[in-house]
Amino acid sequence: VDRADALLVDAAAVRHWLPHRPTDAHKWREAVRIVAGTPGMTGAGHLATTAAQRAGASLVAVSSPGVDADAPVEALDRRVPGFDWYTAVLDDLHRFRSLVIGPGLGREEHTVASVLRCVEDAVVPMVIDGDGLFALAWNEAGSPAVLVDREVPTVLTPHDGEYGLLTGRRPDDDRLAAATSLADTTGATVLLKGPATVVATPGEVPLIVDAGDERLATAGTGDVLAGIIGALLARQIPAHRAAAAGAFVHGLAVQRCASVGVIAGDLVEQLPAVFTDLLATDA
Ligand code: AMP
Ligand code: MG
Repeated sequence: VDRADALLVDAAAVRHWLPHRPTDAHKWREAVRIVAGTPGMTGAGHLATTAAQRAGASLVAVSSPGVDADAPVEALDRRVPGFDWYTAVLDDLHRFRSLVIGPGLGREEHTVASVLRCVEDAVVPMVIDGDGLFALAWNEAGSPAVLVDREVPTVLTPHDGEYGLLTGRRPDDDRLAAATSLADTTGATVLLKGPATVVATPGEVPLIVDAGDERLATAGTGDVLAGIIGALLARQIPAHRAAAAGAFVHGLAVQRCASVGVIAGDLVEQLPAVFTDLLATDA
């Protein structure tokens, strides 16, 4: 894929993609379901949840399998056991507009099984990140049939290592081609993370996001990104744009942070100002 065939995402584009909230909005309208975090990685659930809240989710319900700690106060706290949690997630998933699954879930066999059941049966737009990608790769590296059969949008958010798990090889220098080939074999939107992020979806012009910088290379920033994209999907933004807009605001958030000492939660705190600026600028 030639770089000339891709579009570089800018503020004007993202502003144009963001929907307005109608005056008759209600809290289930942009509700996000999150399954993230496990004992020892509880922060993943917290970061994804608060990121989704700050990116415009009207309500977030979060499950961190096996975790016995409170969710953020504004979220619905859906406690589930550390195994066989998929029925609890699928039961009322129809009330939600998106599902984010995978950050910090761990790689236990029962976790893999529950993730796969959710991917198979969930009929809402979905972000699969982190250990959720491990589960897919464990199932069927290369062309996970479970994805090809899905009839609702799916966003995969691998970094290079997770891309390697899914495909059996790490992306080479042509990252656009790498993302495009995984998108083509899965039918999913693929957001390949890194110093520049590329987004590919079958039938769409690939998008390049060059908004963040190396301060993002710290623990938990990917969990924040997954939560943001979940919220944008719940706001009915099509998957290709939701993924790219998510990476763009994630990059704008780090630009607003201090030059050193940035931690993932700082990005979440910057999100309201990032969205406010985006909407205020005329271009
Ligand atoms: P994760 O590895 O899942 O925590 O995600 C890391 C996040 O940080 C992704 O959004 C990456 O695109 C971003 N990131 C990681 N390293 C860099 C880097 N050197 N420059 C810019 N962004 C980065
Ligand atoms: Mg990650």
